[in-house]
Amino acid sequence: MPLLRNARLVLPDAVVDNGRLGVDGEWITAIGADDDGDAVPHAETLDLAGHWVVPGFVDMHVHGGGGASYTGGQPDQAHRAFEFHRTHGTTTSIASTVATAVDELERVVCGLSELVEDGLLTGIHLEGPFISAARCGAHDPALLRTPEAGVLRRLLDQGRGAIRMVTVAPELDGGVRAVRQLVDAGVIAALGHTDASYEQARAAIDAGVTVATHLFNAMRGLHHRDPGPVVAALESDEVTVELINDGLHLHDAVARMVFRAAGPHRVALITDSLSTTGAGDGDYRLGPLAVRVVDGVARLVDSDTIAGSTLTMDAALRRAVTVGGIPIEQACRAASTTPAKVLGLGHLVGSLAVGKRADLVVLDADLRVAAVMVAGHWVSRPRWL
Ligand SMILES: [Zn+2]
Repeated sequence: MPLLRNARLVLPDAVVDNGRLGVDGEWITAIGADDDGDAVPHAETLDLAGHWVVPGFVDMHVHGGGGASYTGGQPDQAHRAFEFHRTHGTTTSIASTVATAVDELERVVCGLSELVEDGLLTGIHLEGPFISAARCGAHDPALLRTPEAGVLRRLLDQGRGAIRMVTVAPELDGGVRAVRQLVDAGVIAALGHTDASYEQARAAIDAGVTVATHLFNAMRGLHHRDPGPVVAALESDEVTVELINDGLHLHDAVARMVFRAAGPHRVALITDSLSTTGAGDGDYRLGPLAVRVVDGVARLVDSDTIAGSTLTMDAALRRAVTVGGIPIEQACRAASTTPAKVLGLGHLVGSLAVGKRADLVVLDADLRVAAVMVAGHWVSRPRWL
């Protein structure tokens, strides 16, 4: 029953300096200021020496990391990718696929769904093949297709409830119908990799879209006479917008503008990270495509297109605060609370509160990860703690 004291606790709407947090088993059982007095004896009291304690990060869009990938559905690869991101503070992950032939995607979904049942992953996000060739980014245009009801049904059946989100370009034939099919099946419909007009995006949101997949990236741009999906998403209270906040995919001023326009309760920081993350520069595969990483930037070998990211959630949070000027409690909301809520997990994870699972990250004064706790157990912990 550890008691963390002398911590800077980041709560959903406030920071508590000289805070303390009690853990019993898997759960957070007490939160307060150090001078509140301690009614409950704790077996182990740990002095955090003024370090930040923030909720474990929830990454709702990640393809891999640490040299391993989720996109093939192999358990050993998935465990390595998960463990890599966990050292960077991600305690809840949705595994994202890439566009591939439907038979192959069924096999991937089947493999990943077993990892969801085992509790390693929280769900699967199908990114492709139901996306626009005009905005395919790092997905192979030859493998894209329209979202026919039967194909979508087959994939959802194969997932046995593990598919939590599907990205669709709503302007495709059957796109809006597919949004309705997803919503009826209890799956999050995300709009992305899309060339939709503002009106087409609005129709998709009216049909049930609640997430915009990496806002701005791989979608029609924002123009004052052609506002496109960006404005449709930003002005819709029911839509949460994903941001790849690495300073490459978005200018820091744009990320700041999105926090102001949507509010942190509608922004989800994601990594969209590939196996290349944390594995150094070199040549890699993203599904069927060849990717080269130079100076930490992943691009398709055959073009100049940025291919996913080499971002980790701690780096996304750090950049939001130190470069973007976003208050830390807002940045933590976007890294944990908001994605947890979108995924229907807000009762369990995503914030530091009594009754929530003790998933937390200890950050130093420079917002670098010092320790990670999952369900009350330290998975990494420095000697001083
Ligand atoms: Zn992605």
